Amino acid sequence: MDFSNTEEDELVRENAREFVQKYIIPRRDKISYASSIPEDLIQRAADAGFIGFTVSEKYGGAGGSIQQMSAIVEELARGDVSMALPVYILLLNGWPAMLEKYGSEEAKQEILPSIVKGRTFLGIGSTESSGGSDVMNEKSNAVKKGKIWSASGEKVYISGVREATSLPGGGGFLTLLRTGEKSLGPKAFTTFALMIKKTDGSRNDMVSTTLFRDIAREGLSMGGFSFNDLELEDKYRVGEIGQGFHIIMEGFNIARIYVAAACNGAALEAISMGREHLKNRILFNQPLGKQEGLQFELAEMYGKLESSRLLTQKAAWILDRVYRSKEKVPLTEQNLAISLAKMTAPPTAHEIVTKIMVWHGALAYTKDLPLGAAQGGVMSYYVGAEGGTNIMKLIIARELLGKEFLSYKSG
Ligand SMILES: Cc1cc2nc3c(=O)[nH]c(=O)nc-3n(C[C@H](O)[C@H](O)[C@H](O)COP(=O)(O)OP(=O)(O)OC[C@H]3O[C@@H](n4cnc5c(N)ncnc54)[C@H](O)[C@@H]3O)c2cc1C
Repeated sequence: MDFSNTEEDELVRENAREFVQKYIIPRRDKISYASSIPEDLIQRAADAGFIGFTVSEKYGGAGGSIQQMSAIVEELARGDVSMALPVYILLLNGWPAMLEKYGSEEAKQEILPSIVKGRTFLGIGSTESSGGSDVMNEKSNAVKKGKIWSASGEKVYISGVREATSLPGGGGFLTLLRTGEKSLGPKAFTTFALMIKKTDGSRNDMVSTTLFRDIAREGLSMGGFSFNDLELEDKYRVGEIGQGFHIIMEGFNIARIYVAAACNGAALEAISMGREHLKNRILFNQPLGKQEGLQFELAEMYGKLESSRLLTQKAAWILDRVYRSKEKVPLTEQNLAISLAKMTAPPTAHEIVTKIMVWHGALAYTKDLPLGAAQGGVMSYYVGAEGGTNIMKLIIARELLGKEFLSYKSG
């Protein structure tokens, strides 16, 4: 693995850093606790090329690498530690990549350029109330009637439901639907691009939506959507019939790297705030940072964060070999690297942010500091989003011991 960055890599990170300094830091306290991502930020992020950055130039993207995208997400999360904007951006790189790889040409032409322009949202619709970890137990289904699919079901805890209906070019979700018998196992699922509002701005009234009241990361919504006898044209099928489960898992693998990068970014910023605080806070006639106990904590946290960043970097490097260099990297190697990064980054970031809140005393309990927003933001990835921490451990154990050691049965 090569740790040096190309000139282009440096430029990409620098660009994201400048964006943060110019558009986020001056109004960070508002952005951290905002109930929606400020309108201008989405447009500015699109203009900067961050949305659909990895989408190929054919559809208006920059054809950037996963390592570069991880750097962008890390920098954005250093600015918006609540994670709303970085998560918005990371979703709009992970899932469009799956549409580009597996979608019909018609659907790609319709949706991808609009995403890149910042007009349209495309997220992931997998989780159902039966348990997000138990994907194979999902019930929402689609039945083919001639050239049209009829879909019924409900998805919950989905990021971006409000954005998919409020953006001018609408949006939707790569939605996992059951299209075959249970006995087919993972091959019983197919993925569709289910657009709640089309890119031409027309709302699909057959899909109803609901929003949850989140504890944090409020700038980006989380909600649910349900549909009954919803007609889906076959052009919105993404991949082959029966390939859906694998497409969603592949998409999760890409998204998990960005998620780890986002958590690392929030933790980096917390460490930076912590260092300033240790240098500047005078207590008992000396800077707080003179306390060796706190110095030890700083050193340990810095070490943990660097380990987490290295794991994330390695995972991104492996996937760039897969997607850009078209190397045949064994799936076990990919799964191990990605799950290690996703297993490590959210709890590490949560621990770091929490410890640095403690250093700040009562100030950390106010919204004058964004640390509370960061703590809630990284928690979303600890409890579940893009696969809970325990699920990452199960994947790692499966790859190390073999499938026969799995103690749970799905479906
Ligand atoms: C902020 C946020 C945004 C989200 N956005 C999306 C989205 O855009 N699209 C989407 O499809 N989903 C989304 N989700 C849902 C997410 O994918 C699920 O939370 C996740 O899959 C876990 O499912 P669950 O919440 O139903 O928890 P459960 O599946 O009920 O799991 C509960 C806990 O048990 C643990 N657990 C599960 N199985 C085992 C086991 N065998 N052994 C040990 N521990 C286990 C899990 O790790 C978890 O901690 C989001 C969630 C959050 C919090």
